[in-house]
Amino acid sequence: MGEPPYRAAQILAWVHRKRAVTFEEMSNLSRALRARLAADFVLARLEPAFVADSADGTRKLLFHLPAERGVRAAAIESVLIPQVDRPDDARDRLTLCISSQAGCGMGCRFCATARMGLVRNLRPAEIVGQVRAGIALAAPTALTNIVFMGMGEPLANYGPVKTALEILSAEWGYAISPRRITVSTVGLAPAVSRLIAETGVNLAVSLSATTDPQRDRLMPVNRRFPLAGLLRACRELPLPRRKRITFEYVLLAGENDADADARRLVRLLHGLRVKVNLIPFNPFPGAGFAASPRARILRFQAILRAHGIGATIRESRGQDIQAACGQLAAARPAA
Ligand code: SAH
Repeated sequence: MGEPPYRAAQILAWVHRKRAVTFEEMSNLSRALRARLAADFVLARLEPAFVADSADGTRKLLFHLPAERGVRAAAIESVLIPQVDRPDDARDRLTLCISSQAGCGMGCRFCATARMGLVRNLRPAEIVGQVRAGIALAAPTALTNIVFMGMGEPLANYGPVKTALEILSAEWGYAISPRRITVSTVGLAPAVSRLIAETGVNLAVSLSATTDPQRDRLMPVNRRFPLAGLLRACRELPLPRRKRITFEYVLLAGENDADADARRLVRLLHGLRVKVNLIPFNPFPGAGFAASPRARILRFQAILRAHGIGATIRESRGQDIQAACGQLAAARPAA
């Protein structure tokens, strides 16, 4: 627009850090520039169409994304999670779990989002907009962590996710340290390497199986990126010393929860700096899987721990409002 470059930083700070809702508020811009901006641009905001409250304090936000600029309308969900799953950790955490795609194309057999198929990729504004809405809903309590563990496969929407990460961590943006952001992936190996080379975020890899035939069956993406190559990519990551990779493992009764699975997992992860997050399966209609009994989950955890692998159990949150891992399907509850 023929303006000096520092104007861009001023405008970005108004849009993100100060969360302006009109151009008129941007008091360090000239009246003429404000009028030109208002004539040519809109300050679009993402507002939840519906907020569901769980008995355990978890809140699920449903957003309707309008069709525009050649993309179709879609619905997505985010989840606000006051964290109590680390009883050893006194600090209060408030985690926002956000979506990177509407639906998902990865086809994991145990996940409700997969049943939607991929509707479309989210634009950076739609990813950041969830954070902005989450901040507003949580206020005055501040968010402490952001996890890309909602709908979609973040690394299948790499460019927009990376742009969103830049906005979330920028001083003129949301000033959220990348150390407080976790990107979870089914394991698109080349993009995993790229993410770690290009950003400082934490990595979580959804493994959920210990042999290729078993993983092919549960997570069809394994046919493209089999275990050996995925784990090799993880071994070769330029990870800072203090960092560990989180491996998520959804426990499915009789499928992947035997002692032999735990022992194979130990061998697979040998030599990697990791922690394992065991996720009890969260049911959804027509899933065709059952959660492992508690005793089995504890036994699986004990085997990992006995071999020096830090393993925690991710206690299910928000199941009563279909907000738990693998339950997001962007359906408005029947009134
Ligand atoms: N696509 C990315 C981001 C989603 S994270 C990924 O898969 O990592 C969602 C997490 O929930 C993943 O670890 C996934 O394996 C897990 N999950 C999916 N369905 C689940 C279910 N029904 N119960 C428990 N966890 C589930």
